[in-house]
Amino acid sequence: MEPGLLQWAEARAATTEQLTRVHPGEYLNRLERLANAGGGVIDADTALSSKSYVAAIHAAGAAIQATRAAAAGQPALAAVRPPGHHATAVQAMGFCLINNVAVAAYEALEALSMSRVLIVDWDVHHGNGTQAIVETDPRIRYVSMHQWPLYPGTGARDETGVGNVFNVPLPGGLPPEQYVTELLGAVERATEAWTPDLILISAGFDAMAGDPLAAFTLRPEHFATWLQAWRRLNAPIALVLEGGYVPQRVASAAVASVEALAHGS
Ligand SMILES: [Zn+2]
Repeated sequence: MEPGLLQWAEARAATTEQLTRVHPGEYLNRLERLANAGGGVIDADTALSSKSYVAAIHAAGAAIQATRAAAAGQPALAAVRPPGHHATAVQAMGFCLINNVAVAAYEALEALSMSRVLIVDWDVHHGNGTQAIVETDPRIRYVSMHQWPLYPGTGARDETGVGNVFNVPLPGGLPPEQYVTELLGAVERATEAWTPDLILISAGFDAMAGDPLAAFTLRPEHFATWLQAWRRLNAPIALVLEGGYVPQRVASAAVASVEALAHGS
């Protein structure tokens, strides 16, 4: 990256008002109590340490901050852990506690006077939590490309919400260009006669070749190709990190994505 091109910002915690647009207060209290008691295990994938709740509300806060920066003309990446797209309104799962991207989408709708939010989920897993949260809200369109069959088992093509859900389930091992084309096509369908005010990306880099959890074949330049294409929609773009299980590859793809946002097409 060119020196000076990148600005770092520390995340603030999301507020209760921001979080409860998506998650009931009772659910959040339950997570906080579990963390305060030293942590615990929710399912085979999903454990909390004593600090996990604090991390999760800061992750959601970072997604909001990235959204606000993007809306002010500065595209942004929220480099967060834990991720969020498997968390439903009332169920933590798949390493996810709070649905960061959904919290950010509702901040845009409720606090930033936006009326249409496009969420593109390129994580190799289906964002079941995001879909469950937004599938009855026509102000949000959700596009997910994911390996099929694979965890969590949702994301069939015929899950279309109120006409606002666009799922692209695909097998692993295809040539990367095919994944690139399929997701470009799905976003094109989702934005036909529907111009988003904001594009939120559930940026899971477990869709890369060599990820230990899955078998997609993408390389860093493919994420850049997508972002360059979507910049032409003329909407602010914010990325929120989701999965990705080879840190060095996640880093390379994150840099390629940020460069694509910074330099444009
Ligand atoms: Zn994933």
